[in-house]
Amino acid sequence: MSIVLHDTREGRKRPFEPLVDGEVTMYLCGPTVYNYAHIGNARPAVVFDLLTRLLRRRYSLRFARNITDVDDKINKASIETGKPIEEITARFIKAYNDDMGALGVRPPTVEPRATEHIQEMIAMIETLIEKGFAYEAEGHVLFDVSSNPDYGALSKRNLREMIAGSRVEVAPYKKAAHDFVLWKPSTPELPGWDSPWGRGRPGWHIECSAMAAKHLGTTIDIHAGGQDLVFPHHENEMAQSTCAHDGAVFARYWVHNGFLSIDHEKMSKSLGNVVLVHDLIEEFPGEVIRLALLSAHYRQPLDWSDETLAAAKHMLDRLYGAVRGIDVPAEAIAAAEPPAGLVEALEDDLNTPKAMAEYFALARELNKASDDDERVRLAAIMYAAGELMGLLNEDPEAWFAGKTNGKITPEEIGTLLEERKAARAARDFERADEIRDTLAEVGVLIEDSPSGTTWRWDN
Ligand code: AMP
Ligand code: ZN
Repeated sequence: MSIVLHDTREGRKRPFEPLVDGEVTMYLCGPTVYNYAHIGNARPAVVFDLLTRLLRRRYSLRFARNITDVDDKINKASIETGKPIEEITARFIKAYNDDMGALGVRPPTVEPRATEHIQEMIAMIETLIEKGFAYEAEGHVLFDVSSNPDYGALSKRNLREMIAGSRVEVAPYKKAAHDFVLWKPSTPELPGWDSPWGRGRPGWHIECSAMAAKHLGTTIDIHAGGQDLVFPHHENEMAQSTCAHDGAVFARYWVHNGFLSIDHEKMSKSLGNVVLVHDLIEEFPGEVIRLALLSAHYRQPLDWSDETLAAAKHMLDRLYGAVRGIDVPAEAIAAAEPPAGLVEALEDDLNTPKAMAEYFALARELNKASDDDERVRLAAIMYAAGELMGLLNEDPEAWFAGKTNGKITPEEIGTLLEERKAARAARDFERADEIRDTLAEVGVLIEDSPSGTTWRWDN
């Protein structure tokens, strides 16, 4: 059985086979680095990180995730803050990688930066002009959409709809409203590079086409991104690349994640409801955020709320609870395979809800097992599944002890439990019960046993 992926271009699920046996190339549109990533931006990073982990089980993978470090939004941020562009981009590239790292997102094979590929972009634009797919006008170069009969095939739009949908005011240098910019002139204070069309800078779409070709070749197996990128970004990437490469297929499978909303509203800066990953990781373990992002199927909309996080926390507590107290040798984990049902669910277009159900079935089996060897064997499978999902990376004891729930810290709990122990020794049961109630109010449950008192977070 092959891995099955939903291909946006075909509008259906298709068995995945790479172009070259055993080798896969994949491109994901990465961040524009002018501010911190919000939790919506993290969805494609996490979802497609899971896809890379799944692909690597079967194939060798070359995965490129670019950095857009030349963009008008970055220029605007530089003007607004008075900081040099390089300082802004360097700061937010680091922040992006740190934040995604905290969510268990592994670094891509290559992380090309737009500013380091300007010559490749210029060369591709020259080719497009030579072949009659682009034209120069007033220091701009535009892609001539009418020259590409396939235009609209990815986003299923026809030209008439696009013309109707385009803004009334059309730049005078454009032949047609839907023609898009490949190159535009820069004023002296803006970043710019010398080109055959004067000093200027590239349009956003050509950046990805040039970087994908340079690092992955003319035809790539999988092109991924958020749903909002289907049109115009990916439609335009496809048009540029296909036309520049004499009709060669640009991407064989197009995969897109659904949008993340917050309290049923679109997450956007103008609405002021943006949740930054940078802030969230101060409060919640990265794995909780990761699992929350994976809890819905990647193509479905995901509504983000406190409950989404609480549910993910609860799920992880159950998984960590199952492996807690079992000493599993590293070799046993290395030798273990994740459960077949879990892998099958993921290989069916990344069905994460089903994969998690399989994970819990395994945790239940482990909870019921009493034979020590069997418990070690099952726990090793739990960890192998965790490696595939990007979960269960922490020591279970540290998981339960090391985190605060935002209301009380483990140290404070320890102090109160000491006090309660002393109260019980002095037969002051009223005070002991009072402490138990206080802890319950801040989300801590305690359990007394002959060997002492243990606590856990109540979810
Ligand atoms: P940007 O930096 O705005 O180009 O976005 C980076 C990535 O995040 C793109 O793949 C977008 O499609 C994706 N993205 C942005 N907002 C959301 C959202 N609310 N939900 C899901 N994906 C998003
Ligand atoms: Zn792109």
